[in-house]
Amino acid sequence: MTTTNPLSYLSEQIEAWRQVGSYQHLRVLESPCEPMSRFDGREVINLASNNYLGLADHPKLIEAQVEAAKKYGAGSGAVRTISGTMSIHMELERRIAAFKHTEACVVFQSGFAANAGTVSAILGPDDHIISDALNHASIIDGCRLSRAKIHVFPHKDTAKAAAILNELEGKPGHKLLITDGVFSMDGDIGPLPALVEIAERHGAIMMIDDAHSSGVLGSNGRGTVDHFGLHGKVDVQVGTLSKAIGVLGGYVCGSRDLIEFLYHRARPFLFSTSHPPAVAAACLAAFDILEREPERIEKLWENTRHFKSALKNAGFDTGESETPITPIMVGEAKTAHAYSKALFENGLLATGIGFPTVPEGKARIRTIVTATHTREMLDRAGEILTSVAKKMGILR
Ligand SMILES: *Cc1c(COP(=O)(O)O)cnc(C)c1O
Repeated sequence: MTTTNPLSYLSEQIEAWRQVGSYQHLRVLESPCEPMSRFDGREVINLASNNYLGLADHPKLIEAQVEAAKKYGAGSGAVRTISGTMSIHMELERRIAAFKHTEACVVFQSGFAANAGTVSAILGPDDHIISDALNHASIIDGCRLSRAKIHVFPHKDTAKAAAILNELEGKPGHKLLITDGVFSMDGDIGPLPALVEIAERHGAIMMIDDAHSSGVLGSNGRGTVDHFGLHGKVDVQVGTLSKAIGVLGGYVCGSRDLIEFLYHRARPFLFSTSHPPAVAAACLAAFDILEREPERIEKLWENTRHFKSALKNAGFDTGESETPITPIMVGEAKTAHAYSKALFENGLLATGIGFPTVPEGKARIRTIVTATHTREMLDRAGEILTSVAKKMGILR
């Protein structure tokens, strides 16, 4: 009897990825996430984290985690709706709602769960979603799970978004206009004022995913809604606790009833265990730092300006970026991965990103500077990027 492996098609696919150079080896971090980190036994400048403010290993966050673990234990014991809602979870939600100037907030296990859980909970098959082409995967999955009709508009094309809503005028169903605040692969900012106006005109729900703007844009890092002065005009604001906040989690801010509804219907809230208390405690400590040390955010932007101008002067194509996320466009995925590998061998971690994370032919190296990089580190990173690019024929 011959036995065949029913999963052999996976091995074939993996082999095909190796052939085209898009096979990804996981880099293993052997130190805390810092501006200089050790990956795979090598000390490198880390331009690949979302640890914008250096909070991921901040002593105050670590101290808060240890204390919370001692006081409340290692885990919460259940999902939020059964018995896993701890006082510290409620405290964090109140804290975030106040910080964002909204009525209420619900915290999810991750930003991914927040987006996917919210969109799928508030919409159904009779509804319509108008979504930017470059929105995050968690939004796309939430849209699919909702079974609403999905209308994708070209990236930042507000005229097209308005045209779609015009066509839907008078048709039944709720309409949701949804965008990333900052786009994670290009580092550009969504056209919020125009989108908010369009949503208002058509009675659509306005939802923004501020994953890369939480802790980065707006006063004390309140995000794009604050950055554009749109308080009270965005119905659903999503943020993450996993990036600039330095820990793990996602949240939704909005009206009291939106949050009550999500408490009753968002599936990750109902069916997946809540954060360990240490996570909530560390997030609370991070919000203290956001409010007390705005100079961290100023340093982040100072570093961003410095690094971007160095890359431009070197002749790199950095796309449309307006934030600390700066892509270096190289075209083919194979080139991006080979470039990233060579950079690593020269002391710099910057991730190569290709299809399906970005469109074909738009592969890139993605860099993210943080507040804790020194000038010397950034200048050295610029030198490594330039010399390797010249050797590989990416820069002439
Ligand atoms: C990272 C990211 C998320 C997911 O956040 P996690 O907390 O890491 O799950 C959602 N949306 C966008 C735009 C992101 O960049």
